[in-house]
Order: sequence, then C-alpha cells, then structure tokens
Amino acid sequence: MLDKYNRDIHYLRISVTDRCNLRCKYCMPEGGVKLINHTDILSFEEINEFVEVAVGYGISKVRITGGEPLIRKNIVELIRLLSQIKELKDLSLTTNAILLKEFAKPLFDAGLKRVNISLDTLDVDKFKDITRGGDITKVLEGIKAAKESGLSPIKINCVIEKSQNEPDAKKVKEYCEANGLIVRFIHQMNLKTGEFSVVEGGTGGDCKVCNKLRLSSDGYLRPCLFNDIAYNVRELGASQAIKLALENKPKCGTYSNENMFNVIGG
Ligand code: SAM
Ligand code: SF4
Repeated sequence: MLDKYNRDIHYLRISVTDRCNLRCKYCMPEGGVKLINHTDILSFEEINEFVEVAVGYGISKVRITGGEPLIRKNIVELIRLLSQIKELKDLSLTTNAILLKEFAKPLFDAGLKRVNISLDTLDVDKFKDITRGGDITKVLEGIKAAKESGLSPIKINCVIEKSQNEPDAKKVKEYCEANGLIVRFIHQMNLKTGEFSVVEGGTGGDCKVCNKLRLSSDGYLRPCLFNDIAYNVRELGASQAIKLALENKPKCGTYSNENMFNVIGG
C-alpha cells in the first residue's frame, strides 16, 4: 500500500511484550518502567486477526519484537499461527538471544525463517554493564543454536555510539565475518530528542524510504517511531487503524514523548 508520499508500506513490526529479561542502558531505565497491564496486552488471536487484515492491505513482511519476545508465554504458538498466513513472505524475530538456545529449534519448526540478534560487544564485562547484568555466554550459545536450527540469515544488530570503527563494533564485525552472520550497525537513538540516523547495513532510519508500521503490545498502531501518532486497533478495528496510520504517516520523524524502545520494539 502506498502512503501519500509514495512510500510502499509493507512491513509491520509487532511488539508482543513490553517486558524484558535485560535492562540495556540505552533502552530501559535502571529502575524499570511502568509496565502495561496484562489485560491490555493483545492476545495471540488478536494479533493474528490483525495480521490477517493487514496482509489484505499489502503487508507482506512481519517482524516480532518486544521487549524481549522470547519471554512472552507460548511465543512459538504465535509463530505457528502467523506462519500459516500465506500472503506473508517474510516472518522474522528480533531477540537478545538470552533464551534462544532453548527456543531456536522450536521457532524454526513452527515456521520462523530468520532472526536478528542484538549484540553490541564481545567483552563479557562490558556486555554485563550495557545490559545491566546480562550473561554473554547465553547469547553466544543462542547464536550457535540459531545457526544449527536452520534459521537464516542471522543478522546481528550492533548499537554504536558514534561509528562502526569503535573497538567493540570492530570486534563484533570480525566475529560476524568469522561466523557467517550479517552485521548491521544502529546508531544509538534518542526518541525524546529525535536523534536518529540511518542503520548501516540496513534500511531503517531513512524517512524517504520508510516502509513500516508498528503495532505495540497494548494494541496501538504507530506509523512512525519518532512521532506520537497512534491508533487503537481494539477501538477502531484493524482496517480503520491501518487506513488512518497510512493516511497520517509523517513525511519524516521528529521526536516522540510517548514511545519507548521496550514498548514499541525499535
Ligand atoms: N529485546 C530484543 C532485542 O534487544 O533484540 C528486541 C527488542 S529491542 C527494543 C530491538 C532493537 O532495538 C535492539 O536491537 C536494540 O539494540 C535496539 N534499541 C533499543 N534501544 C535503542 C536505542 N536507544 N537506540 C538504538 N537502538 C536501540
Ligand atoms: Fe531488552 Fe532489547 Fe531493550 Fe535490551 S534492547 S532492554 S534486550 S528490549
């Protein structure tokens, strides 16, 4: 579906939870965040119904994200449901990989094609510091399990402060090259001040070619990460929410007071 700036909107990112088993410094405040009530979180049936409507409008690519999607109970079942929607050409998931060792094979068997894994450093202590307590060994085991399970391609999201020549980013790049992984460098963003730029090695962050809509775990469809416009899919119904999001997708992002990475999923 084309928006009024002639961008072909065909990519839907779905956040299935605002909760996470890590607390990355650039994503969540140390003290945690005010969590969405469980009763407000979209059920798998609601998500599936929404996607079934969305493919009718031209959505052909879905990414599951969070918070941490692997801590959503029965996440494999959601993948199984969505993988049966024939019009979906691409179904993927973004994860911190802490639980991927256990989930990679069941996810692949349920129909997941590929994963993006977040990894900003290979240094054990630095990883622990950035994620406020995370164990990198689990992530590396998760990556190995993803490779063995058949998920492909495996992309690594590496958040950088300024440049991909930073020592940590360079090491992540080397690790990816040695292990058949595709690395994408994401500049650290600030939603409130509107600091964002293009993803190196990816397509995100370039408003001219933005092809995305985002569905939050509490059922708001958002046409832009850097804007507070949101449509409640429960109140409006999927069709109306999609039409409004398409009609009102901003030409370019500015800033957002309401969006948070853990809720909207990046
Ligand atoms: N928990 C999963 C993970 O970390 O992969 C999925 C959700 S996370 C919000 C999705 C992506 O957003 C991750 O790759 C993460 O690095 C990125 N992200 C979070 N906060 C960010 C920020 N302030 N700037 C840039 N990227 C950010
Ligand atoms: Fe959790 Fe992902 Fe945010 Fe890190 S970036 S706190 S892993 S949601």
